[in-house]
Amino acid sequence: MSDVKSKLIDGATGPWEIVLGLEVHAQVASKAKLFSGAAVGFGAGPNEQVSFVDAAMPGMLPVINRRCVEQAVITGLGLKAKINEWSRFDRKNYFYPDLPQGYQISQFKDPIVGEGLIEVERDDGSVFVVRIERLHLEQDAGKSIHDLDPNATMVDLNRAGTALMEIVSYPDMRSSEEAAAYVKKLRSILRYLGTCDGDMEKGNLRADVNVSVRRPGDPLGTRCEIKNVNSYRYIQQAIEYEARRQVAIIEDGGTIRQETRLFDPGKGETRSMRSKEEAHDYRYFPDPDLLPLVLDPDWIKAIEAGLPELPDAKRARLVEQYGLSTYDAGVLVIEQARADYFERAAAGRDAKLVANWVTNELLARLAKDGLEIDASPIPSNDVAGLVKLLEDGVISSKIAKEVFEHMWAGEGTPAAIVEARGLTQVSDTGALETLIDGLIAANPGQAEAVKAKPQAVGWFVGQVMKATAGKANPATVNAILRARLAGD
Ligand code: MN
Repeated sequence: MSDVKSKLIDGATGPWEIVLGLEVHAQVASKAKLFSGAAVGFGAGPNEQVSFVDAAMPGMLPVINRRCVEQAVITGLGLKAKINEWSRFDRKNYFYPDLPQGYQISQFKDPIVGEGLIEVERDDGSVFVVRIERLHLEQDAGKSIHDLDPNATMVDLNRAGTALMEIVSYPDMRSSEEAAAYVKKLRSILRYLGTCDGDMEKGNLRADVNVSVRRPGDPLGTRCEIKNVNSYRYIQQAIEYEARRQVAIIEDGGTIRQETRLFDPGKGETRSMRSKEEAHDYRYFPDPDLLPLVLDPDWIKAIEAGLPELPDAKRARLVEQYGLSTYDAGVLVIEQARADYFERAAAGRDAKLVANWVTNELLARLAKDGLEIDASPIPSNDVAGLVKLLEDGVISSKIAKEVFEHMWAGEGTPAAIVEARGLTQVSDTGALETLIDGLIAANPGQAEAVKAKPQAVGWFVGQVMKATAGKANPATVNAILRARLAGD
C-alpha cells in the first residue's frame, strides 16, 4: 500500500531525497477553552474572551473541559489510533509576554492518543500511508502584536487557553506535494468528525514542517522545523526552499544546524528563528493542578459507535453504489457537503452523469467564483433536473451546457429555462430528414466522400447542428445520415 515515491532533488553532486514529518496544530471545535469557561471565537474585540484562569491570576485553577477531551478521543478514533485510557498534563515552561502562566499546559510523555495512521491520495490517484505518532491536547498561547504602536507591543489573550490538538506524524512524506496532500486529507477527516473547522486562514489549522535531506538510502539527516505554515501553497513553497537550502549547505561542505525557522511568504524563503531547544530546556513536569485524565472504556466505545462515515469509507461506497471512478469519488468526498450534494442530485438519476456535472461543470464554476458547494447558486435538485432532461433526450449535452449557464445566472429550473428559451432538442425525424436531404443535395462531393469513408460523416453532423443551433438530437441525426449515405 505505501509505495514510496520520492521526488529527488538534483544537487550539484547528485540526487537528494527530502524527508518530511508534520506537527499539525488543530484548534478543537468547542464553545469554551481547554481549562476555563471563557468563550472561544473569532472576531471578538481584544481581550474580551479572557477569564482569570487564562490571564493566570494568582490562585486560579484549571478545570478540564470534558467536550475538548471528547473531541480529542473522536479525532483519535477517526485516525485509527490507540486511545490512551490514562494520560496526563504537563507544564512546558517558557517565557513569552503572551503566555501569562509562564508555561503552556500540554501533554508530554503520556498523550491522550497514541499511534494511528492516515491513507492519503496523491494527485495521480495512488495512495500512501502516513503514520501518526501521537495526538495530544494543549493550550494555545495569546498573540503579541508588534505593529500597532511604534513604541509598544500589544498583547491579546483571546486565544490564550484555547484547546489545540497537536497531531504529530512520523517522517513518512517524501515530497512537498505529499506533505500538502497529507494536510488536505487530515483537514478533511477533522471536518467530517466535526472536531476542528479546518479554517487555515484564521490559523485554526496550521502545520510545523520538519524538513531534512539525505542521499537516497542514507540514514535520516538533521532536520529543521518550519513553524506555523497555514496554507497548502506555503507548505509546498517552504519545503521546496528549505530542502534546496539544506542541499546547498551540505554540498558546500557545511552541516545542518537543528533549528526552528520561519517561512516568509513574501520572499518565498525560510529564515532562522531560534536554535531548536531540546525538550529538557522546557523543564517539562506533571502539572500539579490537574489530576491524571482517566477515560472510561465504555465511554470510548460509545463514541466509536457514533463516528460518522469518514472520507475513505464514503469514497469506497460511492464507487460501489454509483459506479463512479475512484478519482471522481475522491473529488466528491474530500468535503462532506460535496458528497451530500452529489447524493441528493443522484437519487433516481444516472449517477455517473450527475457526478460529471458536479465534478466538472459545477465545481469548476464554484472554484472560479471562490465559492464552496454550500453556497452554490444551483441547488442539487436542479442538477438532477438537468440530468433528467438529458436522460429523456429533451436536450443534447451541448445545449445542456447552455442551460447550465442560465441556471447559474438564477433564471430558474432547467425545465423552465428550456421551455422559456425554446431549447428543446429536435428529434422530429421528418424535419431532420428534410434538412439532411437538402444538405446532401447541396454538397454532392461531401456525400460521395462519406460513402467512401463513413468516418467523414462528422462534417454533415456539424452542418445539421449548425442549422438547428445545436438542438438536433445527435442520435437521430446519425441514424438518418447512416441510412442516406450508406456506401454502395
Ligand atoms: Mn504544540
